[in-house]
Amino acid sequence: MVSQDATLQVELAERAGWLNDGAAGHHVGESLAQLAASGYLGLGVPESLGGAGGNLLNVVQAIATVSEQCLTSGFVFWCQRAFIEYVAASDNTWLQAELLPQMLQAKRSGATGLSNAMKFLAGIEQLRIQATLDATTVTLNGFLPWASNLQPENFVVAIAAQTSDGRSLVVAVPSSASGLTRGEDLQLLGLQASWTSTLRFDSVQLPYQWIISDHATIFLPKIRPAFLLMQCGLAWGVARRSRHEITQSLNDKNGAALSSRFQQNSITLLMLESQLHHLCSVNANDVTLAQARQLFELRIALTRLAVDFVQLELEAKGGAAYLKPSGTARRLREVSFLPVLTPSLVQLETELHRHAQAGNLL
Ligand SMILES: Cc1cc2nc3c(=O)[nH]c(=O)nc-3n(C[C@H](O)[C@H](O)[C@H](O)COP(=O)(O)OP(=O)(O)OC[C@H]3O[C@@H](n4cnc5c(N)ncnc54)[C@H](O)[C@@H]3O)c2cc1C
Repeated sequence: MVSQDATLQVELAERAGWLNDGAAGHHVGESLAQLAASGYLGLGVPESLGGAGGNLLNVVQAIATVSEQCLTSGFVFWCQRAFIEYVAASDNTWLQAELLPQMLQAKRSGATGLSNAMKFLAGIEQLRIQATLDATTVTLNGFLPWASNLQPENFVVAIAAQTSDGRSLVVAVPSSASGLTRGEDLQLLGLQASWTSTLRFDSVQLPYQWIISDHATIFLPKIRPAFLLMQCGLAWGVARRSRHEITQSLNDKNGAALSSRFQQNSITLLMLESQLHHLCSVNANDVTLAQARQLFELRIALTRLAVDFVQLELEAKGGAAYLKPSGTARRLREVSFLPVLTPSLVQLETELHRHAQAGNLL
């Protein structure tokens, strides 16, 4: 296992630059297949559902380990694992039997088009997809401007949709569904190979068995802590890698200028790691308002720390790190995604502010 892990790390590191740039001949399917083969995708999924068992902290650690080498791979890992989480948390046994084995083995990619749903939950925007129900099917219409891990012609995406009677559903939509159109890959600053595009739903009709939950407003808050904690793995991995890079670069010449900020960041990292361990141990059905607030603050602080660490890494290494092929240059582009990953830092901070003003604990 150890040597297998070491091989995985080396190969992830090797392809990180190509995936960030979207170089021809390389795609994230290679990373997903390796993550499946090494058992990473099944972590935290009950063995009764075909997973490897373990807990949420194991998943977050695995996402961090991958992100240390390659954030594009870490991000699609998060997408795939978040999709698995929705199906595992659903009481739809048909979806669990049909989809989970394929997703755990990365035979299909799993996308989460739930930015819109998370914003809906926070009262920021309306659901962008409308659902019409008849006796046996649900019909979907609408447009999503973003979704990642959309392997061309071989994905399933989780979306939230509004019914005309005011209910909201979470639905798994396979790429083969008639009326579903995936756009071209969007041109991104980094993470170019993340299979990120738009989705148009034009009278997409599916049998009820594709519904993950028919009460999105109950289901989404239940999975939100795991959704956010797994996202923390992305920033944690980048921060850890950058910290390591800085330790290799601090010397007699730059130490006086940089040591104090480096030490402060390192202390912050230790503190946030301890909070992460603690929050991963909280039962998802039992999250108090105070813990929800801590979780938001942790996501914000870890993201800001990762951004600051990479900036410090640039300063420690100097001009050579600004050359395009350098790992630092790649990390600068990778890390700039994390503040806008939904829920964005602006959104989290706005929610904290709103609740503080209303006198809530959150
Ligand atoms: C590489 C990449 C991959 C992505 N992959 C996915 C994916 O797989 N699935 C998915 O669903 N989405 C995905 N997204 C979408 C992403 O998460 C969005 O960037 C996010 O939803 C922010 O929304 P926006 O861009 O519409 O920001 P805007 O709405 O333009 O807002 C700008 C900023 O203000 C915040 N904001 C806006 N309105 C409010 C408000 N009322 N209160 C508080 N804050 C507010 C926003 O969050 C944002 O930070 C991806 C984006 C990128 C760049």
